[in-house]
Amino acid sequence: MLRPLGIEVDIRPTWVQEVLIDPGGRLGDPPVFSDVVSGQYVHMRGAELLVGASSPQARVGIDDPDVFSRHATARMVEETVERVGHRFPGLPQPRVAGTWTGVIDETPDQNPVMSATDCAGLFVAAGFSGHGFKISPAVGQLMADLVTGAPPSIPGVDPRDFDLDRFAEGRLLRSRFPYAGVTGIR
Ligand SMILES: Cc1cc2nc3c(=O)[nH]c(=O)nc-3n(C[C@H](O)[C@H](O)[C@H](O)COP(=O)(O)OP(=O)(O)OC[C@H]3O[C@@H](n4cnc5c(N)ncnc54)[C@H](O)[C@@H]3O)c2cc1C
Repeated sequence: MLRPLGIEVDIRPTWVQEVLIDPGGRLGDPPVFSDVVSGQYVHMRGAELLVGASSPQARVGIDDPDVFSRHATARMVEETVERVGHRFPGLPQPRVAGTWTGVIDETPDQNPVMSATDCAGLFVAAGFSGHGFKISPAVGQLMADLVTGAPPSIPGVDPRDFDLDRFAEGRLLRSRFPYAGVTGIR
């Protein structure tokens, strides 16, 4: 859509896999959390745990975002069972209840592009790298500032960090306090 206008956004489609674990009993109400020690993120989906892997190795670059398996690999299921067993020892009667997968729009620094372009009146908000839901209120606010020309209104966030040109200029956005072994959202 943007390429005919001469605008390149450095986004590649990346296949991600998630596994549903039925704990086999009531678990209480665990919060959504990212477990950077085991390399997984977890939230409840009904009575089941929905588990994804947060290591960069779990993300698989693909050529065509419309062509991918809807099922997680046996290896991913095995690794998930191991990680869940580590974090939730003693689940009543755990079993794998299913898997699902999807494609995310990944940028070279796993942070989105929120930017004006060389084309007057055209703005880009894309490349959320698997984090688009949770940051959407801030995305709306930042984009509103950009489009209206208002001063940046999110404390501690410089909109220029998310500029489209940062990839070509080698200004990748890195977390100031990165965790080892997980992807690098700011
Ligand atoms: C398996 C999986 C798990 C995820 N988990 C999380 C999570 O836990 N937390 C989180 O924050 N984020 C998560 N995400 C990421 C989140 O879903 C995305 O970041 C977010 O949906 C991106 O929003 P978007 O508006 O940029 O794109 P989309 O939601 O993809 O919306 C783009 C829209 O544009 C439409 N469209 C495309 N092309 C055209 C066209 N040519 N003309 C008109 N319309 C068009 C599409 O149909 C679509 O409706 C996950 C993603 C996947 C795949």
